[in-house]
This record gives sequence, C-alpha cells and structure tokens, in this order.
Amino acid sequence: MSTPAIVWFRSDLRLQDNTALAAAARQGPVVAVFLRCLPHWQRHGHGANKLDFWGRGVAALGDDLAGLGIPLLHRDIDDFSEAPATLLAIARENGAHALHFNHEYPLDEQRRDRTVIDAFEEAGLAATGHHDAVAFAPGELLTGKGDYYGVFTPFAKAWHRQLTPERLALRDTPAPQAALPIASDPLPPLPDLDDTPIDGRIWPAGEGPAADRLERFLRFRGRHYQRQRDFPAIRGTSELSPYLALGMISHRQCLQAVLAENDGALAEGDAGLTAWVSELIWREFYRHVAVGFPRVCRHRAFQTHTEALAWRDDEAGFAAWCEGRTGYPIVDAAMRQLVTTGWMHNRLRMVTAMFLSKHLLIDWRRGEAFFLRHLVDGEFCANNGGWQWAASTGTDAAPYFRIFNPTTQSTRFDPDGTFLAEWLPALAELPRKARHAPEGDLLGGVDYPAPIVEHRAARARALDAFKALKTD
Ligand SMILES: Cc1cc2nc3c(=O)[nH]c(=O)nc-3n(C[C@H](O)[C@H](O)[C@H](O)COP(=O)(O)OP(=O)(O)OC[C@H]3O[C@@H](n4cnc5c(N)ncnc54)[C@H](O)[C@@H]3O)c2cc1C
Repeated sequence: MSTPAIVWFRSDLRLQDNTALAAAARQGPVVAVFLRCLPHWQRHGHGANKLDFWGRGVAALGDDLAGLGIPLLHRDIDDFSEAPATLLAIARENGAHALHFNHEYPLDEQRRDRTVIDAFEEAGLAATGHHDAVAFAPGELLTGKGDYYGVFTPFAKAWHRQLTPERLALRDTPAPQAALPIASDPLPPLPDLDDTPIDGRIWPAGEGPAADRLERFLRFRGRHYQRQRDFPAIRGTSELSPYLALGMISHRQCLQAVLAENDGALAEGDAGLTAWVSELIWREFYRHVAVGFPRVCRHRAFQTHTEALAWRDDEAGFAAWCEGRTGYPIVDAAMRQLVTTGWMHNRLRMVTAMFLSKHLLIDWRRGEAFFLRHLVDGEFCANNGGWQWAASTGTDAAPYFRIFNPTTQSTRFDPDGTFLAEWLPALAELPRKARHAPEGDLLGGVDYPAPIVEHRAARARALDAFKALKTD
C-alpha cells in the first residue's frame, strides 16, 4: 500500500469540492488532521460562538470522513508556532510522505503556513498549500499598474472579465479508501470559555445543513435577493456566512448553483442572483486586501492618514452600544440580534458600525473586536473590511461625510418596526411608526432609554474630527 498524505483541515471543513483533499486523494490514501489552537484563536479575538461552531463542524467532518475510511487525528496546541513540529510528528508517526492544506489569508495564518512548509521541506517531505477559498489567488488580479486593488468595483470587473470555467470547476470528492491501521482520535469537548456559546441548534454545523441552506435560499429567496436583502425583518439573505467562513460550503458550490439557476451566467441575468454573486466577490476582495495590504492585519487603517484620528474614550457609550441601550432602536435591536444569535443582518452591521465609529467616535477596532467575540461567522478579512468601510478608514471608504442617520435607516429598512418590536419587545406597545424614534412623552410607561447622543450634534463632531485629518 502506498504511504498516506496528510490533509490539514482548518477553515475548510468539508469533503466536497475541497482542493487540498482532492489533491491528496489523487496521490493515494489520506489521513486527516485538525489542530485545535484555542489560546491562539482567542488571542485573535474569536469568541465562544465561533469556537463552538468550529468544534461542531470538526465533529461533523469526522463523521463524514469516517464514511470514506479516512481517519481524523486531533491535536490541541497553544500557539501557531507549535504547528510545524506537531504536524511533522504526525507525519512521521504515520509514515506520511506529504502534507496538503488550503490557504488562509490573514497575515498570522500565512506566516504559520510558511513555517510549516519550511519545516517539511527541511525534513525532506512535501507540503503544498492550495488556493481554495477564492477563484483568484491573491496577486492574480492586479490593477494596470500591477498593484493590488484597493477599490471593489474595478476588482469585481476584473474578476468577471478574467473568470474561466476551470476556476469554478468543482473538485472531486474522494472515493472511499481501504481501511488504514490508524484510528481516529476522539474529539475533546470545548473547555469552559469566558462566554457561554449560543444554542447550537440555531446554527447546525456541517456540510449537510450548509447545502440545505443554499438550496432553500436559491429556491425561495435568490431571485428576490436584490429587493429584500436590506430589510432585516425579512429573511432575504442566505445566512450562509458561518458556513462559508468555516468552509462547510465553498464559494464554487454557491456559484455553480447560481450558474444552474441563471442560464449559465454570473454577471448578467436575474438581478437577485447577480447581486448575490457580487457579495461573494466582496468576500474574495477582502481576502486579497488582507494579503496585498498586510497592515490591515496589524490593527492598522487601510487609509493610513486616518490613523491620526482623535477617537474618543467613552466607556459608558461603548457599554451602551454593546448592550443595546443607545436609545436608537435600530442600533439596539441589531446589537441584541448579534448577542442572542451570533449573527447580524448586513444592513445592520453597517448601521451599528457607523454609529459606533461616527456618532460615538469610538475607535472602530473596539467594535471589530466586539463583533468577532460574538459572531458565529466571525472572519478576519470580512469583519475588518466591513469595519474599516463603516469607519471611513478602509477600502471603498464611505466618504466620511456620508453618515447614516440611524432613524432614517430604520424607517427605510424596517418601515413598520417589525424587526424593532422583535428585539425590543417594549417598543411593540407603541404605534408602528413611533417605534423608530420613540419620543419622551409617547414612551410613557415604556421602558426604553433616551438617545445617548443627538444625531446632528454627533454628526457634526465626527465631521470635525475627520476634517482635522491631513490627507497627504
Ligand atoms: C461591520 C461589518 C462586519 C462584518 N463582519 C463579517 C464577518 O465577520 N464575517 C462575514 O462573513 N461577513 C462579515 N460581514 C459581511 C456581511 O455582513 C455578512 O457576510 C453577511 O451579513 C452574512 O449574511 P448572509 O450569509 O445572509 O449574506 P448574503 O447576503 O447571503 O451573502 C452571501 C455571502 O457573501 C459574503 N458576503 C456578503 N456580504 C459581504 C461583505 N460585505 N463582505 C464580505 N463578504 C460578504 C458572505 O460570505 C455571505 O455569506 C461584515 C460586514 C460589516 C459591515
């Protein structure tokens, strides 16, 4: 029997359409490995919801791998620096000749993988990283000047222009293999963390639930996406982000499903489906940004001149934002959705992020960290990109003077206050139109706080702070 290859699973927890797994299986038998690196992930800011979902995803993957006769070995490490020695030891213990993995793009992960490749090469073993979570590897799409794109629209145009069918071709799922004399490790439970994870039934883990979501989304909501996606009271989006973030489904599977629904087109055809494709390209864009502008991985602003901005110290304001008691119902309802479900609607991520960074003028990095602590889909590139966009420090930066009025956002995107009433039951007692900005006298016996800042004054304060920045 030929010697096995190791597949190191990380945020690619699936058998289908998995580039590293398919490449390894072409060579012969496969042994799967998962390195759980809780202390390091916690230092990166991932909270209990994501870590729990990750753990459940690994368990589901283990079951699926067992169906193919592929053992899953599990190791706990404290720090990424332990990855090379741990993987080399596994390779030697199991007589493996090669290691395969799919790239992750934040800087720390890239560095970890470099040390692993170097260690394997030094030991005379092959280690191969595959570009799996993107259609174009970072560096493959560049501007006319040979730079990474720092603006989304030209990136998306180049993405469509240069896309070939091969880039979206689904990778082979391995066939069952003959039993190896290697037993899977039992998966240890998640230790107690600072926060208690939300009920796992909200986000069932694994490839099956992910595929079901994709199918239901495309069948019932995909064609309405463009019209419905901004309304948080409507389940108009796919809610696939946790599954995409941990690779329980791939962007290729999503895009192939769109091609099948949309007469083989991604850039034209149904407006709902093409708008959804655009969101998947945003996801890829922010991965390229993390590689092309690695300062964003070091807590730095993409627009470096904004680093001089005089953010305010406001512990009371930050606490009110985190706890959903700013007195702006749309902000408060959204923050409660986040803390309760581990997910927040995209429109509301923009509204709440802008409220923190503009109305409260609190450093966006604090909000970025709070989101990561609670999001089940917490993913560095998208989260950082979204926060820097909202704070006008990032790519495509919203011009600093375009500051969402939370009340206007609320009346536009939750016109009859349904979402508000769901998350702030006290407001359900008010007439629908009054829920967006409850006035003192209307509130009567209703338990809801007064706004902690006045919109116009807060807006003026933010404008002054941005105007004070030197742009050169
Ligand atoms: C401040 C802020 C923080 C964010 N943090 C994260 C995060 O940690 N993880 C995350 O996956 N997304 C993040 N997003 C992007 C977006 O809000 C979520 O991906 C989306 O709400 C997930 O819901 P969905 O799966 O129903 O999305 P859909 O609307 O169905 O979109 C399909 C997929 O496209 C991707 N996507 C959609 N919008 C974006 C976007 N703006 N940027 C990058 N990818 C996108 C996601 O993978 C998503 O699942 C953030 C956005 C903002 C403004």
